Amino acid sequence: MIDDDDDVNDDVVVMISWCERKGRRVTTRKETKSGTIVSDEAPLVWLAGCEKDDDDDADEYCHRCFEKITKPNASLKSSSSFVVECEYCNVEKYCSVDCRRLAASEYHRKSGECFAFETGKDAEKSDPTRYPFDDVPNRFAIRAYAKLGGWTGLEKTLEEKKKVSENLRKHLNECVAHVPNDYHHDDNKKNFLSTLCSNTRALMGADEEIVKEEDFVRAAWAMRANAHTLYDYNYDDDDNNNNNNNKKKRRRKKIGVGLFPEVSRSYNHSCEPNAFFENVRLRLRVRLIKDVASGEEITISYLNDDEKGEKRQHRRELLKKQYNFDCECAKCEREK
Ligand SMILES: [Zn+2]
Ligand SMILES: [Zn+2]
Ligand SMILES: [Zn+2]
Repeated sequence: MIDDDDDVNDDVVVMISWCERKGRRVTTRKETKSGTIVSDEAPLVWLAGCEKDDDDDADEYCHRCFEKITKPNASLKSSSSFVVECEYCNVEKYCSVDCRRLAASEYHRKSGECFAFETGKDAEKSDPTRYPFDDVPNRFAIRAYAKLGGWTGLEKTLEEKKKVSENLRKHLNECVAHVPNDYHHDDNKKNFLSTLCSNTRALMGADEEIVKEEDFVRAAWAMRANAHTLYDYNYDDDDNNNNNNNKKKRRRKKIGVGLFPEVSRSYNHSCEPNAFFENVRLRLRVRLIKDVASGEEITISYLNDDEKGEKRQHRRELLKKQYNFDCECAKCEREK
């Protein structure tokens, strides 16, 4: 069972401090060994599933708790009898009736998110030229309105509608997000977000009072800056197993995505970090990969696995483009 309020204490080994040059940063209170988990955060919003062009999918995982749904007997062809589907949309899948009930009461309401997800399946069929309705960005946005805005689909009065938008804004204010100055001049970005916004509005059957474009744009940038991919690190790849004389091969498989404002705003980047992100089901952790002295800053890498090996200039270009800062980490300084 997941307790969303169960904020694990990270006050023992680390503290947040300010530094003139880098702003908010995380430092250690005492000498800390490699392997120590220094942060552990539950997501503000999360969604199981991968984008359509991705090879991975989240069908074998509970969409609420991200627990793997195991088959009691592997020789059985279908696992469907062990998966508890949402009774109405068949998009959301759960490990148990309990998870289904909790999801329905917290965000997947029949008249709200569930209706919108169900509508999305048909909408895409009727107009395949538009941005895919039921792909991850749309569903993630709808989930944010349902979970953070408290949107139920039953809002009638102006007051009720305004409340949803206010709730969403209040929660997303906790997230760092810088809408780029040139956003309004970048037609590609603007068109993409406008389309996404109007699609979301259409799916939700909501008017502009609930899904305002300015809120939506800010939410989209907040999601971009605070979203982390969640993996199953122990996935048994069946295809690989068959090709390798039944030798078990494990790989990292994407299950979904979560919004983690606390770790996202706290940890700075370094091209030679002393910590990395990992997740255990829904929770995102920061684990040290080096021994760290007392008072030393803890850093992680914002670059993905492919980008990490790039030369100094290219790394700095990637960071500038995606996160809008000039990397002055020890490695970049050394390689000057
Ligand atoms: Zn579950
Ligand atoms: Zn449903
Ligand atoms: Zn650097």
